Amino acid sequence: LNSVVIAGAGHAGVQVALSLRQEGFAGRIALVNDEPWLPYQRPPLSKAYLLGKIDATAMQFRPAAFYAEQRIDLVADRGAAIDRQNRRLLLASGAALDYDHLVLATGAHNRPLNVPGAALAGVYGVKTRADAEALAPLLATARRVVVIGAGFIGLEFAAVAAAAGAAVEVLELGERPMARAVSPQMSELFRAAHASWGVNFRFRTAVSEIEGDNGKAVAVRAADGERLPADLVVYGIGVIPNVALALEAGLSIDNGIRVDANLLTSDPHISALGDVASFPCLQNGERLTRLESVQNAVDQGRLIAARLTGKPAPYTALPWFWTDQGNLKLQIAGLSTGADNHVVLGNPATQQVSVLCFRGEQLLAVESCGRIGDHMAARKILARPPALTPAVAAAPGFDLKAWEA
Ligand code: FAD
Repeated sequence: LNSVVIAGAGHAGVQVALSLRQEGFAGRIALVNDEPWLPYQRPPLSKAYLLGKIDATAMQFRPAAFYAEQRIDLVADRGAAIDRQNRRLLLASGAALDYDHLVLATGAHNRPLNVPGAALAGVYGVKTRADAEALAPLLATARRVVVIGAGFIGLEFAAVAAAAGAAVEVLELGERPMARAVSPQMSELFRAAHASWGVNFRFRTAVSEIEGDNGKAVAVRAADGERLPADLVVYGIGVIPNVALALEAGLSIDNGIRVDANLLTSDPHISALGDVASFPCLQNGERLTRLESVQNAVDQGRLIAARLTGKPAPYTALPWFWTDQGNLKLQIAGLSTGADNHVVLGNPATQQVSVLCFRGEQLLAVESCGRIGDHMAARKILARPPALTPAVAAAPGFDLKAWEA
């Protein structure tokens, strides 16, 4: 193997490049970056960077000199097509990169808001550094903010906007915050916390239109007819994987680029990972699963680099995730899909709680708010054969850290 080409320089693509060098790969690495900056991390975009707590340099993975030292060619371009027969990635500029192995790390884009007025000025998603740079100065002046979608990103932004002094309304189709990802108990803790910060929720509420004046958003119209004045509208209603390159090249697609347990696509010379990849997930009953998290991008990047340097292994890493909202940090270990039984440790009134999510007798996931020790213990417990049962966890005085030790 002499040449690895990586399309996409986000968390996943950068990790593949770094890990290849760490594993001793001496060949050529080309990392195709279609954004106008050095590769950077996205989590601060809706948190510390928006709050002005860190600057853009602090979001970068590495300084420019690092890539040169490591002989990682940052190619400022965009993958336009894959010539699988000749093993060549064609670039938007007209240039091309020959590969022995191609890695698709193209991530995902925001699901667009498909309502009239979505293209008005003052309506934003939060996906790129460009989005955050456009949004940050508006926070200083926005008085009325409407957030569409009570998922992680919508709520992180809602907390930032409330801290900046705006009146914040969150519209959500579902019945509770973060419903796809967390237990009802944890949703309630965060709903109450947001309410205490002045965030107002409307659940079971669809958006029918964004009203504009002179090309700028001035209000959000809910499907029930209610009109919510807004000088800033931010939406976070999920993402769509960037599969165009793979699709046009005839690779298997299934809610993302379909890969096997080794993260290989249907072409043995092409791997895919991160937000764009749909993989058989051990913690989800081997069902094809697409995860949007730093952990997933990093662990999958390491696995691909190890395989390309002669140490193949199936991907089995435990999924984990975090979100920061206001003064609260929520950490999740495992996947709670299918949970039917919850054991709560700690007192929700203190905002320091762990929710253990079981399906029958099997522990699936642990959600910890303000209990970092529990989160670390949960990651260890979930990574080995399941033994913690609901009966043991529900006993008075049960301590997750002590049980793990
Ligand atoms: P990305 O980081 O999206 O990178 C993909 C890159 O590929 C992009 O630069 C894209 O422009 C580029 N690209 C696309 N098509 C092409 C092409 N044809 N050619 C070349 N390049 C291309 N995760 C957590 O675990 N915790 C958090 O708190 C958290 N907060 C987040 C906050 C925000 C605002 C966002 C947007 C995400 C957050 N995430 C968080 C998710 C995490 O950032 C993603 O899961 C992670 O970035 C995925 O990495 P990736 O490399 O697969 O995709």
